[in-house]
Amino acid sequence: MPPVASVGDIVERYGISLPDEVPAFVDGAPRYSDGAHTLTRECPATEEALYALQESAPEVVDEAVRAARLIMDDTPWPRMPHVERKRVLRRIMDVIERHRDELAVLQSLEVGLPLGGVRTMHMARTIENFDFFAEVAGTVGGHAYTQTGTYLTVVTREPAGVVALLSPWNAPLVLTSMKLAASLALGNACVIKASEHSPYSVYRFVEILHEADLPPGLVNLVNGRGPVTGASLVEHQGVDVVGFVGGSKTGAAIMAAAANGVRKVGLELGGKSANMVMASADLEQAIDGSLLAILTGNGQQCLAGSRILVQESIADEFTERFVKRLSQVRVGDPFDAQTEVGAMAFREHFQKVMSYVDTATAEGATLLTGGTAAPGFDRGFFFQPTAVEVGDNRLRVCQEEIFGPFVTIQRVPDADAAIRIANDSAFGLVSYIWSNDLLEVTQMSGAIKAGTVWVNTPLARDLRAPFGGYKQSGVGRDGLESSVELLT
Ligand code: NAD
Repeated sequence: MPPVASVGDIVERYGISLPDEVPAFVDGAPRYSDGAHTLTRECPATEEALYALQESAPEVVDEAVRAARLIMDDTPWPRMPHVERKRVLRRIMDVIERHRDELAVLQSLEVGLPLGGVRTMHMARTIENFDFFAEVAGTVGGHAYTQTGTYLTVVTREPAGVVALLSPWNAPLVLTSMKLAASLALGNACVIKASEHSPYSVYRFVEILHEADLPPGLVNLVNGRGPVTGASLVEHQGVDVVGFVGGSKTGAAIMAAAANGVRKVGLELGGKSANMVMASADLEQAIDGSLLAILTGNGQQCLAGSRILVQESIADEFTERFVKRLSQVRVGDPFDAQTEVGAMAFREHFQKVMSYVDTATAEGATLLTGGTAAPGFDRGFFFQPTAVEVGDNRLRVCQEEIFGPFVTIQRVPDADAAIRIANDSAFGLVSYIWSNDLLEVTQMSGAIKAGTVWVNTPLARDLRAPFGGYKQSGVGRDGLESSVELLT
């Protein structure tokens, strides 16, 4: 097992620098707070301290909201011609491109994701979010009703106002930039609350955005724990819309807080997605896709295909081949190009993922592979990809979001059983079907209660299409029309 690069090695190798303390960013400048509560953030691959995070107290949150409010109430920004606003988004794309490698390295350092995937997939999507919404800026307009003959009714679309954006740690820039790009394209001002587990990559992102000549106060950032800084942001009556990406329990708390003042909310929440492999599937393709569905992002994805339902007649072959491949996955240093799964993002999360091994075996599930910390590491939060076979979808490992490279495999007799079990969940974000039977695919995809159903492909997302969930996976959608509905 090659040694895991230390934080010092990474700083030197990529020529980045890390601060002692991460502050907020308000009104176009860093906002340090004397005597702030601080949280130490450790590198998940080495357990070395990275920096201290200064938690934003309510007065810092208030300053950030006021700065954004000023942009909406006292500057030309909300009425800026769309071609100019489009230019702002294009300048943002250029600065992200210039800092692409630095931002990728910071995310891998903070949350343990393999650098290759962050540099390509995450950074490409971050830039694409601005590219996509730059085009949207010019397409959103109003309309007029003329049919009465005596008067004209003109309908206009106006920016919603100050948008609070709360994001999780699992894909910090992809998820922060999605709603940020949409908010700016549609003429809003923002206050971002980054996850306390990935604050510096988002801080640097906000800082470099200002190289694109943003008006100070247009994009602000506050940092700290959810129930402290996050709650004071959501409760602030200067906020008009709350765009939240995170866990379902937190989403419910956000919805309740936003009800005070009757503010709009968009909630993109958790998942426990069924990945259905049917007898007619191309097995090689289904195995490759199922591995991607559970391992991408170290398995820490809302859309992870974490419940495999495999048709009885192919179950032995699928399980044997899938488990063999899973056991060969290379776990290790996020900065080693050979690594497929890096470190779990932080200590408590690693412990949580590990705890589901005992939960599974206590519930009577059969361990097929993994189930321990990855061998060969004397430090770092490395978890061996794990599969368990289950006979009952009501087990906790089938119902709760584990958020790691941990998959359950259950045999099903036919498509009807697959549909019933897929829908037997509090969540309904996405699902996956592997089948070459068109009738079966049509019936299954129509019956499954999930916002997106992927057929013979994992993780393909078109920004024009709505993305969001049924049930506890969310309220509202991201995507072209849905973003316009939320943010205007
Ligand atoms: P989380 O809910 O713990 O935190 C998300 C954000 O909310 C963080 O910034 C956090 O500080 C803040 N927060 C926490 N409690 C708060 C409170 N009471 N008031 C205000 N803010 C609060 O989620 P997480 O652990 O950071 O992220 C993982 C979750 O995110 C998973 O459930 C995953 O499925 C979900 N997720 C969903 C999507 C999607 O598009 N549907 C995408 C990525 C992640």
